[in-house]
Amino acid sequence: MHPIPSETRSPWWRAALAACALCGAGSAQALSVFTCEPEWAALVRQLAPAAEVRSATHARQDPHHIEARPSLIAMLRKADLAVCTGAELEAGWLPMLQQRAGNPRVQKGAPGLLFAAEQVALIDPRAPGSVFEGDVHAAGNPHAHLDPHRLLQVAAAVAARLEQVDPAGRDGYRARLAAFQSDWRARIAQWEQRAAPLRGMRVAAQHSTFAYLWRWLGIVQVADLEPKPGVPPTPGHLQKVLEGVRGTPPRALVVSAYQDPRGVEWLAQQLGSGVTLLQLPSTVTEEAPADTLAGLFDHLIERLLAARR
Ligand SMILES: [Zn+2]
Repeated sequence: MHPIPSETRSPWWRAALAACALCGAGSAQALSVFTCEPEWAALVRQLAPAAEVRSATHARQDPHHIEARPSLIAMLRKADLAVCTGAELEAGWLPMLQQRAGNPRVQKGAPGLLFAAEQVALIDPRAPGSVFEGDVHAAGNPHAHLDPHRLLQVAAAVAARLEQVDPAGRDGYRARLAAFQSDWRARIAQWEQRAAPLRGMRVAAQHSTFAYLWRWLGIVQVADLEPKPGVPPTPGHLQKVLEGVRGTPPRALVVSAYQDPRGVEWLAQQLGSGVTLLQLPSTVTEEAPADTLAGLFDHLIERLLAARR
């Protein structure tokens, strides 16, 4: 019997080394994507499933106002691509993060920084030089992700930018964008059919967060629960809203998941049982059913339909 030369024995350690090397190279090369809001993280994950994607905010945080924490600076420092809303939504915190991260790939003008609001036409821009107070949104309403048609435009721009910062992934980004587009167009048709009874529904809402959704579905916002943009409802303002809508109350009072509904609960009580207080997610959440972009639109439409009945 000749001993089996060690070279020809099952080289488990070589396989392990090879696997490790692949693993290491894979994670070292994985595209790192920073997003300011969860909706863009969800979109990037669909277009670039191998990328390491992290969102600076979650659904229970107000994206207009967050703290520039060290963990966020570290996230942005290593990012190959940053996807944010823009139109001044993050004006209070993103510039500071960019400055502290010191990452040239995601500075203004670099291909690694994409603002979704720059890819679409915004509603409600303010006249130049007009006087306003509170959260301004002077460039127009930035909350455009709640229009699925505009989201489709942003998806094309994100895919193009992924390709620009990661040319090796070109074929995959193009194929996944095409798949997303055909799936999303079919969903839009289904949503529009399902939501047809919402046309003409009257709501009062806090802030302009859902303005694109209302416009898409033909819902009419008859009052803003904010005394000024970005300022939480005050008793005095809610009293005025009550006087204004008492004759023909809206079907629902809508606040975002990150807003405190307590002030608005008072208004709901005053208006009586025909009025529903809806606290809706304004972005993709961590738990089902709104934990994907499609799930978010499904959920919003079902909640509004339930309030309509
Ligand atoms: Zn806003």
